[in-house]
Amino acid sequence: MNYAIGVDLGGTNLKAGIVDIDGKVHQRLSVKTDYHADSQTISDQIFRLIDTLISMAHLAKSDISGIGLGSPGHIDKRGETILYSPNLPQWRNVPIKNMITKRFVVPCILENDANAAAWGENWAGAGKGTSSMVMMTIGTGIGGGIITENRLWRGANNVAGEIGHMIIQASGRKCKCGNHGCIEAYASATAMVLRFKEALESGTQSSLKNCDEITAKMINDAAFQGDKASLDIIKETGQYIGIALLNIMHILNPETIVLAGGMTGSGELLMAPIREITKQGTFEEPYKDTKIVFSELGNDAGIIGAAGCLLKELETSV
Ligand SMILES: [Zn+2]
Repeated sequence: MNYAIGVDLGGTNLKAGIVDIDGKVHQRLSVKTDYHADSQTISDQIFRLIDTLISMAHLAKSDISGIGLGSPGHIDKRGETILYSPNLPQWRNVPIKNMITKRFVVPCILENDANAAAWGENWAGAGKGTSSMVMMTIGTGIGGGIITENRLWRGANNVAGEIGHMIIQASGRKCKCGNHGCIEAYASATAMVLRFKEALESGTQSSLKNCDEITAKMINDAAFQGDKASLDIIKETGQYIGIALLNIMHILNPETIVLAGGMTGSGELLMAPIREITKQGTFEEPYKDTKIVFSELGNDAGIIGAAGCLLKELETSV
């Protein structure tokens, strides 16, 4: 029983890996998620991927401690059923935990994907060795996970960690959640592109021409080439993230904050304003030990974390 299988179900890719008890991935597989399909088709896709992985790794069933699945969306309080997922429209009311347990006859844990990734970074990545950690994943949207006293904080209804919907501006930009002023409406890749286009429309000069094809990566590349408009918009994005992190630091005082997701490709261009804002806004002494770092596991965080959640569950249930 030296391995667990971690599965990371995303709206674009379905990934799985064989993970050992130290958090190392020994074999991994990835396929495109059939995201428009019904829940049975997606479940079958997960089952096939796990079957293939086990046979590729030449493992006996007795070598596998269990299966951890990280899924987007809202999971019921018992951690058994996916209630709904905005990115997978037909992935609703799916009792996937029991389906996996029945199919593979091993223990299974179902975890929100952002929580699983946070646990992965805490167990084997940038937050290793810290008992309190917050992860903020900044990509198309913004997600997060909270670890306090070496455990995931899931909240009363299993929906804690929705950092992307922290309101940083009263009556601010409309967020896709329906509220106004959420950090996601300012600092996600989608939001940064929108703000950049608005700046160009109001006359800001840039080496990038205003068009539908502008992406966060293009802005990032232009910034590294010295384009002032791109540098300014990334700096502003970092400042917004800094405000959100300031709130998190004041509420939770975590040892480590881990930043992940595509937007972290901007590196120090994004980190410098984050550090500046958090340094300015916190009292020096109580917060001097909080480290703000980039993730170490990259795309493997979800797989490692899902497997790690399963191993943690088995350890605590012994
Ligand atoms: Zn929101």
